Amino acid sequence: MNLDDKIENLPKLQKPQIAALKKLGLFCARDVLLYFPYRYLDFSQVRNIVDLKPGENVSLKVKIKTIASRFSFRGRMSLAEAVVSDETGSIKVVWFNQPYLAKSLAAGEEIFLAGAADYYKNSLQMTNPIYEKLSDFPIHTSRLVPLYHLKQSIYPKTFRNLVALVLPLANEIADDLPDSLIKRQSLMNIADTIRQSHFPENAEVLSQARKRLAFEEIFYNQLAAQKHKLLLAQKKSFAVKFDQTLVKNFVGSLPFSLTVDQKKAAWQVLQDLEKPRPMNRLLEGDVGSGKTLVALIAALQYVSDGFQAVLLAPTEILASQHYQTAQKYLVDKNRTHGYYQQKFILLTNHYAKINGQAEPKAKIAALIKEGMPGLYIGTHALLQKNIKFKNLALVIIDEQHRFGVDQRAQLINREGKIPHLLSLTATPIPRTLQLALYGELDISRIKNKPQGRKNIITKLVEAQNRPKAYEFIAKQIQAGRQVFVITPLIEESDKLGVKAAKTELDNLKKVFPNFSIGLMHGRLKGADKEAVMKDFLDNKIQILVSTSVVEVGVDVPNASVMVIEGAERFGLAQLHQFRGRVGRAEHQSYCFLFSENLNPETQSRLNSFTKTSDGFELAELDLKQRGFGEMYGEQQAGWNFKYFDPSYTSLIEPARQEALNILRHDLALDAYPLLKAKIKDKIVHLE
Ligand code: ADP
Ligand code: MG
Repeated sequence: MNLDDKIENLPKLQKPQIAALKKLGLFCARDVLLYFPYRYLDFSQVRNIVDLKPGENVSLKVKIKTIASRFSFRGRMSLAEAVVSDETGSIKVVWFNQPYLAKSLAAGEEIFLAGAADYYKNSLQMTNPIYEKLSDFPIHTSRLVPLYHLKQSIYPKTFRNLVALVLPLANEIADDLPDSLIKRQSLMNIADTIRQSHFPENAEVLSQARKRLAFEEIFYNQLAAQKHKLLLAQKKSFAVKFDQTLVKNFVGSLPFSLTVDQKKAAWQVLQDLEKPRPMNRLLEGDVGSGKTLVALIAALQYVSDGFQAVLLAPTEILASQHYQTAQKYLVDKNRTHGYYQQKFILLTNHYAKINGQAEPKAKIAALIKEGMPGLYIGTHALLQKNIKFKNLALVIIDEQHRFGVDQRAQLINREGKIPHLLSLTATPIPRTLQLALYGELDISRIKNKPQGRKNIITKLVEAQNRPKAYEFIAKQIQAGRQVFVITPLIEESDKLGVKAAKTELDNLKKVFPNFSIGLMHGRLKGADKEAVMKDFLDNKIQILVSTSVVEVGVDVPNASVMVIEGAERFGLAQLHQFRGRVGRAEHQSYCFLFSENLNPETQSRLNSFTKTSDGFELAELDLKQRGFGEMYGEQQAGWNFKYFDPSYTSLIEPARQEALNILRHDLALDAYPLLKAKIKDKIVHLE
């Protein structure tokens, strides 16, 4: 047997099983070897029958005294019944619906059993235990027993047998990690890692194996991220000198002063821009913390210097909001900051404007190609193939987690200079995980909100107070305000939560027959979504019922109430993002959480949310309580780890150091072909 042997050539597999294995992505022996369990059942305690305690998972080593099968007409199923014994006693065993079993086991035979005994008619009995013939290396019983994600046509036992069969090949798998690294970090070697992951000797050794897998994963992540970072640092970009007068005058022209954190972030950005290499920076801050303004300061520098800058938003509505904001703040009526002759361009699927004037798209595309300086605001329409910027020096991305390397590559100009990148996000990432998620980015944070912002009054509303909450909402609407209602995914089958949202819409129509209520969910097409958002923005819709797709970053200043149904189903960080949709103007705003889950832990989690308005604090809290996958939608946060999880954060820094050690003397990884191959397909996101 060897690693490349095809699944269909491995012994004892039937056609449907082969097909099912292929569906799991397993095509050869190597694939099986590297398909690790997701969990283990602890049957490592081998007990004497006399010591059995009800409900305890254990294994027994027994001799079969009698075994027979019969059909139970009452239960309409087959039963295999046995009595088994060891030196200390005997016990009855029953298997349901396994008629073949009485044929494969016979009286007098010695076997292992794994399961829990329970009382049945006053005596202990084992029901449906796993059985296995006696051996020196049991794999289904008498140990930590691996569980795999499998398709239905493959039984756990079949798969474990298959793994056991290919296990000797573990010695032939090349270790992708350099020996020296393995020694320095005291990691398990790959062969042991494979063996122990499938059939661990004990929990301690297993945790060593899992640690090795986690380390490997975070190491490749860091290798890719740091490589990208170092490569980028060798590239050229557009350096501009920090024009103090320009920035001072601009800031002075604002109707408010910048917060300390805004100043700090702007300073960090301006420092980056003075350097000849591309900036790669993430600006994190709660909704409403004033990130856009920091971005505009950066844009101001470039556009006044005759360059092109781009501000990309995920939706048309957001793009036009940014367009208005930019015009409001940057168009210099008093001509004090030298910005008066600048151009503001809006380009989306539906809009094409220069300084408020509608223009043909083709004309704008031509001007872009000619290098007309200005701040170009838009959606992905700005990145289409036919649009070629001549002098693009700065790209600002708002709330887009999927802005990849390719897209950035498209923006590289003719002289091979790479534009600076500034990415804005309101998703609070716990500090401890920052490097794992954004290792290739430099990070600025805005922690404090502008002064004078009212806190959003947040309440967990008990079921009996729902009518009161509705009365309150009615009053808010009568006073001219608007309301968001977020509904969760409830049923597995209702993948996009459409059904849940529609049900809520019908409820609310009965409660508020006189208000206009809109519906937003992920099945709506882009244009329909935008139309609903536009109606909400124009106050044609007073209550917007939405699944969690409600656009991040959209500013509906008139909305003052955020209602979240099934609040326990969301992570705290996500709840915080919903809450950030309100309180964006002078109106006192409210967030009401409803939850039918009265479990004290859930209630306390939701209560902590009502007391905290710091998104970063909530993110840390969430991480501790629920783990990462549940904090944000996975796809939103770009979490693509299989073995690394937040319990391994202490591995990040050593992994990063190891990656840097290698990259510093061999950036191309020429001496490390295995590592090079490993990170080849890793897409480094450049948010
Ligand atoms: P973000 O993009 O971080 O969600 P914005 O930049 O859209 O936040 O700012 C939210 C609102 O706060 C905008 O109306 C903006 O004009 C205003 N704003 C920004 N900075 C300040 C400040 N320092 N003081 C008062 N208001 C501010
Ligand atoms: Mg914003």
